[in-house]
Order: sequence, then C-alpha cells, then structure tokens
Amino acid sequence: MADEFSMDSFSLKGKLALVTGATYGIGFAIASAFAQAGAKIVFNDRDQAKIDQAEKDYAALGYEAHGYKCDVTDEDAVQAMVKDINEKYGVIDILVNNAGIIKRIPMTEMSAADFRQVVDIDLNGPFIVSKAVIPGMIEKGHGKIINICSMMSELGRETVSAYAAAKGGLKMLTRNICSEYGEANIQCNGIGPGYIATPQTAPLRERQADGSRHPFDQFIIAKTPAARWGTPDDLKGPAVFLASDASNFVNGHVLYVDGGILAYI
Ligand code: NDP
Repeated sequence: MADEFSMDSFSLKGKLALVTGATYGIGFAIASAFAQAGAKIVFNDRDQAKIDQAEKDYAALGYEAHGYKCDVTDEDAVQAMVKDINEKYGVIDILVNNAGIIKRIPMTEMSAADFRQVVDIDLNGPFIVSKAVIPGMIEKGHGKIINICSMMSELGRETVSAYAAAKGGLKMLTRNICSEYGEANIQCNGIGPGYIATPQTAPLRERQADGSRHPFDQFIIAKTPAARWGTPDDLKGPAVFLASDASNFVNGHVLYVDGGILAYI
C-alpha cells in the first residue's frame, strides 16, 4: 500500500504569511521559521524605525520580509495594509496574530483606559486583522490563522486581569473562527506560549538589588518541568506545524508551548 503522507506537507513553499508585530521577540522568530520553511513574509509594527531595523535583521538571516507601519487596532489602516499586500504579493495564506501587550497592574489600581487598551490590542486587534484577511482566504479556498494566546488563556494571576481577559477571549475567538470558517477550509488554532524570554518579560528576569533572582523568575524555574524559561526559538516548530498542510485536520485548538508548566502548576 502506498504511503500518501509526505514530509513535504510541512513545507511552506509558495505560501504568503502575514505576522503581526514581528519586528522582534516571538513574532520575529515565527516569521523567520516560516521564511526558512519557504514562505514569503510580510509583517507590521507601529514604529517605522523598528520596521526598518527588522527588515535588515531578516535580510541578515537571508530572508526577504516587507514591513508595514500599521496599528492592529486601526481597522482602516489594517484594511488598507491587507489590500496593499493582496495587490503587491497576493492573497495571504497564513496569518499569525502575534502583536500584543501586557500591563502588570493590580486590578483595583488599574484604570479602565489601561484595561481597554490591553483588550483593544490583544483581542480586538486579532479580530480586526482576521476580519480583513479571511475573505481572501475564502476566495482562495484555504487559510491558516494562528492566534498567539497565552497560559493566561487558562489561568488568572495577580496584576494581569486585562491580559487574562483578553487572552481568554482570544482562545474563544480562535474556536469561533474555526466553527464559522472551518467549512471554508480555514484552520484557526492558537499557540499558548509559557514564559518566554523576550523584551516583554525582561522585567521579570532582572536581578534584585542583592543579586538574587527576581521572585517570579524563581517561581518559573521551580514550576516549569523543563526548569527554564522558553526562548522564541521554542515556538518555531509548533508554528510551522500549525501553518502547514501537516495540520489540516487540527482546528480550534490552543497548543501550549510552555515547558510543561500548565500540567504542573
Ligand atoms: P514583545 O513585546 O517582545 O513584542 C510584541 C510586538 O507586538 C512588538 O513588535 C510590538 O511593537 C507589537 N505591537 C504591540 N502593539 C501593537 C499594535 N497595536 N499594533 C501593531 N503591533 C503592535 O512581545 P513578545 O514577543 O513577548 O510577545 C508576542 C506575543 O506573544 C504577544 O501577543 C504576547 O502577549 C504573547 N505571549 C508572550 C509571552 C512571553 O512570555 N513573552 C507569553 C505568552 C504570550 P512595539 O514594539 O511597537 O510595541
């Protein structure tokens, strides 16, 4: 009997991927992995200087990536960016909703404006970008959407009420896109990173005045079965899998890439 499965199903050759907020950190790592797997890359960020630097950083790795100055919360700007991508590069096959922020403030001290801003970027942003991209995917007959969720899609913790609310909502948006557009051959899954060493989490790794580890740093090492922080590179394999044809029957799930912490905590 012939084996119909091919390792080529992991390839992203000929695919066009939009990764939001991919100037550094997790987004940059995922976009680089996609490029290595053969995809053409476009990305966005709010800051032109960071975009210019990121284009150089991609080029230094041998990858061509074009950046757009675009805030994911600005629906008109997002629609204009997607229209321009379609005209210049074609229809987007893979979307990664990666852009996100966190504000660590105790809930009773948090202003409604701060809460709103986190939800706006971390939840409304993926809605706005997905809404702009899905019609092209429907027309093309396939699409992959990866929403970068978080362990906080499952857990609550002190000081991250807005982030947990937004990332929990993003998990449900993931399931809803799966339910609503699965029939159009669109697979929408989440990746839930554990604690990953990026600029976003740098304050949690700062040494204390006496040279000891930050209490949160100690907590993470103690509670993560892998006994270490994750790196952006840890997300590359899972992201390529969820972007590729190898995952065509995986839909509506969140894959936690967390060194096992959710199983143990
Ligand atoms: P970073 O802060 O390092 O990078 C986030 C990126 O998103 C930056 O390029 C940032 O650009 C961009 N961004 C923020 N707001 C907007 C906006 N409104 N429009 C466009 N771009 C924007 O974060 P990480 O790489 O650590 O995180 C990436 C994703 O992974 C986020 O969604 C985060 O919540 C999630 N995550 C991270 C974890 C971690 O441990 N690091 C754990 C779990 C989830 P700018 O610099 O201009 O603000």
